[in-house]
This record gives sequence, C-alpha cells and structure tokens, in this order.
Amino acid sequence: MTSEKKRSIAVLTSGGDSPGMNAAVRAVVRAGLDQGVDVYIIYEGYQGMVDGGDRIVKANWDSVGGILHRGGTVIGTARCMDFRTREGRLTAARNLLQNNINNLVIIGGDGSLTGAHIFRQEWLSLLVELVERGDISNDIAQHYEELNIVGMVGSIDNDMFGTDMTIGADTALHRITEAIDAISSTAASHKRAFVIEVMGRNCGYLALMGAIAGGADWVLIPEAPPSVDNWEDHMCEVMEMGRKAGRRDIIVVVAEGAQDQYGNPISCDYVKKVLEERLGADTRVTILGHVQRGGSPTAFDRNLGTMMGYASVEEILNTKPDNDPVLIGIRGNRITKTPLMQCVEETHAVAKAIAAHDYDKAMELRGGSFKEAFRIFRTLVRAFPHPLPEGQKQLRLAVMNAGGPAPGMNTAIKAAVRLGLDKGHTMLGIQNGFAGFIAGEIKEMDWMSVAGLASMGGAELGTNRRLPKGSDLYTLARHIENFKIDGLLIIGGWTGYESAYLMYNERDNYPAFNIPIVCLPATINNNLPGSELSIGADTALNSIIWAVDKIKQSAVASRRCFVVELMGRYCGYLALMSGLATGAERVYTHEEGVTLNNLQEDLQMLIKGFKQGKRLALLMRNEDANSFYTTNFMSALFSEESHKLFDVRQAILGHLQQGGDPSPFDRIQATQLAAKCIEFLIEETKSEESPAAAFIGLYGGKVQFFEFDRFARMVDLTYKRPKRQWWLDLRPIAKIMSKPGPHPELTEE
Ligand code: ADP
Repeated sequence: MTSEKKRSIAVLTSGGDSPGMNAAVRAVVRAGLDQGVDVYIIYEGYQGMVDGGDRIVKANWDSVGGILHRGGTVIGTARCMDFRTREGRLTAARNLLQNNINNLVIIGGDGSLTGAHIFRQEWLSLLVELVERGDISNDIAQHYEELNIVGMVGSIDNDMFGTDMTIGADTALHRITEAIDAISSTAASHKRAFVIEVMGRNCGYLALMGAIAGGADWVLIPEAPPSVDNWEDHMCEVMEMGRKAGRRDIIVVVAEGAQDQYGNPISCDYVKKVLEERLGADTRVTILGHVQRGGSPTAFDRNLGTMMGYASVEEILNTKPDNDPVLIGIRGNRITKTPLMQCVEETHAVAKAIAAHDYDKAMELRGGSFKEAFRIFRTLVRAFPHPLPEGQKQLRLAVMNAGGPAPGMNTAIKAAVRLGLDKGHTMLGIQNGFAGFIAGEIKEMDWMSVAGLASMGGAELGTNRRLPKGSDLYTLARHIENFKIDGLLIIGGWTGYESAYLMYNERDNYPAFNIPIVCLPATINNNLPGSELSIGADTALNSIIWAVDKIKQSAVASRRCFVVELMGRYCGYLALMSGLATGAERVYTHEEGVTLNNLQEDLQMLIKGFKQGKRLALLMRNEDANSFYTTNFMSALFSEESHKLFDVRQAILGHLQQGGDPSPFDRIQATQLAAKCIEFLIEETKSEESPAAAFIGLYGGKVQFFEFDRFARMVDLTYKRPKRQWWLDLRPIAKIMSKPGPHPELTEE
C-alpha cells in the first residue's frame, strides 16, 4: 500500500450505456487534470472496481482524446452482481484505496447511483474491516475516512428526477425520429399502417417526443394509458377520419411499458391485430430495439456530457465532508445540483404510481412540460378540428415566416395552423415573408394543407429577408384590413423581429397594426432576444458536427490544420457550441474578438502541438468574427508560418447549415412554442386596450413572452444579437477541454 496522499478522482460508467457518456468521461478527466489532481478511469463499471488491477488506470490528457464522437462508452460498462454484496464492495474499497481514491464520479442510471449511495453509507465500516484484516493501515483509513461521490445520469430513457435531460436521450430521440421518418415514407407509398415500439419501461418520454417529432397518429405510454375501455374504437375512428381526409399512412408509437388503465400490457402485436381487424389496414410491426441506444452522440449530448462532467469535478473537489452527495443535472441550459437520493426516490415514485395505476400522480411527477406535450400531441393528431365554442368570435389568424430559412419553420407552421383551426378559427398563410405580405400573397389554410409538413426541412410557405419600409407600411395596413387579419404570428429570425418592432412602433400612424403580433424565434444563428435557443439552431449544430466529424477523419493520415468557417452573422453560438462538440482547439467569435496577438499565440500552439506528434487541429471561425482576419487570411498566415510542418485547409460549411430535416428538439420546441403563440394571439384579441406585440422564447427553462417595448433594451442593434448571451459562460470550459495537454514525456522546447 502506497503512503502517498495526493488527491485523486476516479470516473466510471455503469448500467446501460448511452451516447454522450464519452464526452462526460473526457470532461471529468480533463477538468480534473486541469485542477492538478490525479484522475483514474475505472473500466467496466463497478466490476472494474471490484476486480481492481489493470481495471483502474491513471489517465492522462490523451487517454480521452478522439472519443467525443463515439457512441456508447469507450471505458466499458457492466452490470455487476459482486457490487450488490458487501464482500464485493469491501474489495472495491480496498482497490480504490490502493490508488488513493476517495472521490468517485459515477455516470449511470438510478441503479448505479443507488449502488454508489450504499457504498458511501458503508464506507466507514468497510474501512474498519479493511484495517482489521490488515489490508490497509490506520493512517490510510483516517486520511480517507470520507467517500465523496457525484452522480450524472447516463440513460437514453430520460426518466430521472433532478434533470430535464439525461445524457443520451437526445441521441436516442434522433434515432427514433429518423426511423419514424423513414417508415412514414414507405408506409405512405403502400398505404400501410406501422406500429413502432420504442424503449421505455416506465417512462413514455421517448415514445411521446418521438411521436410528436415524427408526426405519428397515436401514442401509447405507461404514464397515461387510454382512459376508456373501448380505446381501440376511438383510435380506429380517428385513423379512419384521417384516411378520409387524405392521409395515406398510419403510424402508432408504443412505449415498451405501454398498458391499459388496469395495468394490462398493450403489445404492438395487439395494436396490429386491432388495426387489421377493424380497419382492414395492411399493418407491420417494427421494434426499434437497440438501434435507439447506438450511434454517434448528437451535439446536445456531447455538450451536455461535457458541461456535466466539468461541473462534477468542480463539485467533488469543493464539497464538504458532511454534504449530501448530489446529482448533476440541467435545467434550461444551466447546471443544477440535487441531492442524489432524493432524485432516486422521486424517480422510483413514478414507477410506483404506475404500478398502483395512479396515472394522474405519475403524470404529475413527470412535470408540467411533459403533460403539456401530451395535451398538444392529442390535439395535433385529431383528424378534424373542434367546432368554435358558442358565443365566441371566429378569428382570422395569419402565420408567416421571415428571415433566412431555419429547419423547424414548417413544423411551427403546421402546429400553429392545426391548433388554430382546432379552436375553431380561420387560419391564413402569408407566403414569402414580408415580400409576400406586401404583394398580398395570402391564402386560407385548411387541416390537410399542412399534413406531412412537420418533418420537412426548409420553409414551404417561403421566407425572405425583406424588411418593410416607407410605403410598404401602408400596403401592409391595407392587407391587414382587407384580409380581416385579427392576429399575426411571425416565425423567423432577426428580419421578422425587426419588422414586428417596426409595426409596433408605427401603431399610432397605422391603426391596422393594432392587432396582437407575436414572433417565434426561428433562425440557425440563435441571435434573438428572449430565447436561449431558437428553432433551427439545434439542427444546424448537428449538421455542422456531422460534417466536421468527416473532415476530421479525412485528415488522420496527415498533419493538417482545418480552419472551419461557420454561419451565425455576428453571433458566435454555432462556432462555440460546435467547437465544444467536436473538440476544436480554438474558437473565434466576434463577441470575443480576434487580435494579431491571438493569432500569433495560436500559431505557436499549433507549431508546438504538431512537433509533439499532433496530427490534426481544428479551428472554428464564426463568419463575422473579424472583417480583416478572414478565413482566407488566417489560413494563409498559418500555412506560411508553419514552414511545411503542417498543412492548412479551409472548410467553409456554407448553406448545408441552413438545410436538413429539423432535429427532434427543433420539431418539439417549434410545436410547443407555436401552441403557446396561438393561445397568446387568441387571448390578446380579447384585450380591451391595445393588444400586445411580443416575442416568445425559452428562457431559464421556461416558456416566456416579452413585450416589444423591451426589444431595443435587450439587444445590441449594431451587431444584431442579444446583449446577454448565456452560452458565453461556456467559453472557459471549451478552453480547458481543448488545451494542449501536458506532455511530460516530451521535452519542452
Ligand atoms: P442503471 O444504473 O442503468 O439503472 P442497473 O440498475 O443495472 O443500471 O445498475 C447498474 C449496476 O449498479 C448494477 O449492476 C450493480 O452493480 C449496481 N447496483 C445497482 N443497484 C444496486 C444496489 N442496490 N446496491 C449495490 N449496487 C447496486
């Protein structure tokens, strides 16, 4: 037994694997090394802790290089029976102490975290026993009398209390949505029905969100079984109406743990039988299975793993001995800490409520946004709208896009049109942004006019960057009057917001503008006030990392530096977040600025790195980071000054960033925000005074509205971005993660 007493942290992944675990491991290792402590990787979960020996390995900076994009967990995971016994945990404790470890970061599900909790509770008694057995000295036992643990949830199910998202759930949703999209196209070709089973024994998150994102017709989840006995009739009636209205495919999504209100399981085969017998539908069953767990993690899961891993190290190094261990979670882009066992207990409470058939409680425990999502889904799948309630005025609500195309615009239009029609109102579509509005390109939209739109990239209604000015305002006012528009929803980017702001300011001159107006943030640039994320940015980020992963692979055989140019105008969101997700060495943004000094330092960093054996460097540059130090300039500078030590190549990703089918996150958020906007417009038409003009957003984990009188104060009008941008706080993490690692084996120059 060694007598050295340096602080050490160990990290392990346990239970079911999930994409993004690698990012978390990488962040723990690098943040720990950056803090000057020893970091150990424990391979194969708790089994590695019990086995000891070469399963517990001291990590260096490069042990976790090149793993961000890989699925699963490269350090292995296992289900370990030994760790469930005291004898097993005793051996594990001895193995940890042999490496001076009493700080543990566990990445796993509720089972793994429960195991960690039990281990911590027993720790002192394990030490006593180890001393009695002569396995450790009194001195060691005294020095390491506390076991500190921190948990992170790696699970595709998103079933854990204490975090809005678990590491891996977003990637699983991508796999599910891709599958539903693919199945929908073949189903429509043959007019077939498909019953798709997705994972989730006690949690309908993947099924519900997959169904919303994939535009499915019906969903069965454990928390909210059909509330009537003859639910099969009701389901078939809705499908039949859908068919009559022109729908060619039928998609039913079933969670693994789906059941009826008495707790009897509802299997896919049963649903298939129902559809065949009652509708005569040619029905197939697809069980997605482990495909959902696999594959490269999404940008979100990589960055979530990185943020959580970094926060775990901060927590474990600063925790006081008496503090309860915490679970690191996320709520609205902010890291949260919640007592670990509270999270485990609340998570079990959902399973218990389901087992007791107390579904109201189960839904209550899942939280408000889950319930809301379920409600919206049920409205969207209805084949025909509800009639207008008696005594209510039928409104004419207009929807339009504005600004550059953003994936998810179509999804928002579909949701807005259907939800507006469902409330009994007339929905108008304004084509081609403000140019179309000025030209009077306005048409009525019916229920089926938006079918199939949810999963399509681009902007079917058209969009452009024209800002109304001068006599345009008069023309717009006339159209509002002639088309009897009672409320306006603008789905778009900066152009949309500026135009709405203009109309708001011109209300005194043009009384027609005194209608409720609401803007829904949709731009890949993510540069809008009032929303931490705008629709389209997540899709763009994923398109970027997909491209950059390939670019990186192309360069493995050579010493090459890539300068990758990214969109975003003056907003560095895409550059920073894609840099974080791909492990870029450097990110250049306009917010931070670029100086000649920076470039010289970066050049030295590159030269040193390549001399030490580096094969690839990645520099992410926001398109407007600096108007003089352009991508061309930087590439030429680094190339010339490298003196052939390494090649420099540019990759200007261009418009691929604006394309692509919207990601599940963008589809789900577009749907939820559109629903809120329609409700807002309807409410505001009742206003006695001047109706509101506002923009909606996701802010601090909540959906909020901001009145346009705050617009000018919230933004930097010159650079067209919000004054406060939350993601700038992630810069220190990006810098630490991408630092060239210390290479003690190589001599410094
Ligand atoms: P998950 O962490 O994904 O929920 P499991 O429930 O299978 O997965 O737990 C993973 C591992 O955590 C188990 O194989 C076991 O080694 C350990 N573990 C789980 N529950 C306990 C427990 N009550 N006591 C000790 N170890 C446990």
